[in-house]
Amino acid sequence: MPELPEVEVTRRGIAPHVVGRRIVGVKVRESRLRWRVPRAVRALAGRAVRAVKRRAKYLLLDCGDGHLIVHLGMSGSLRLVAPGVKPGKHDHIDFSFGEQVLRLRDPRRFGAVLWTDQPPEAHRLMRHLGIEPLSRRFDARRLHALTRKHRTSIKQFLMDGRRIVGVGNIYASESLFLAGIHPRTRARRLSLQRCERLVAAIKQTLRAAIRAGGSTLRDFVGGDGARGYYQTRYWVYGRGGKGCRRCAAPVRRIVQGQRATYYCARCQR
Ligand SMILES: [Zn+2]
Repeated sequence: MPELPEVEVTRRGIAPHVVGRRIVGVKVRESRLRWRVPRAVRALAGRAVRAVKRRAKYLLLDCGDGHLIVHLGMSGSLRLVAPGVKPGKHDHIDFSFGEQVLRLRDPRRFGAVLWTDQPPEAHRLMRHLGIEPLSRRFDARRLHALTRKHRTSIKQFLMDGRRIVGVGNIYASESLFLAGIHPRTRARRLSLQRCERLVAAIKQTLRAAIRAGGSTLRDFVGGDGARGYYQTRYWVYGRGGKGCRRCAAPVRRIVQGQRATYYCARCQR
């Protein structure tokens, strides 16, 4: 499933090819995505894309008088192809920019393509979203303040998109390992100092994943869309029973909120 780093890499991959260019046509072959693709999306021809932004895992194509909202769902991808390239079975939407076509592929159709003429942050899908972890505003003080009322574990807190967006299961486990924090620690018990370590670890983990994806940027043009998601070398994630890369103690696997958490009981307190 595309996580925040994949979405950010997609944003960086497509932006240079679409910003400042005019949409000359929109072809919707399948409108039954997670929600039906609205008529307004088909009527986008003639608008120029001013910027490609991202909020959580939503890509926002600023078209001046509104934003095209794209979510990749479980299996979606966007890439640029030449106009003559025949669409595959799961290539549901084409945005033609003349010499290039921005094509959405989504085999499972859990993705979304919507339009809003309101400020995107006010959209029903975005207004409840938490803070962006890579923003400057996300610092130790902010995390400390955000966690004060929460009896929940820090692992579950990190994964709650109403508090912080884009810290999925993998990144939560990895960040807690790097910060030396036990995943079951109650969020409100974290000291400011530990919040500082955790914020740094979250930013480091997400940035490393974006960098890993950055090496695949050229695949956004002309690729077959079969890119895998970035396999970085994980510290603990998916390594239950194996030796901790730092201290060799066996990595433990527990379940929190129906999601697997991996951690090292010796390195994380
Ligand atoms: Zn360890």
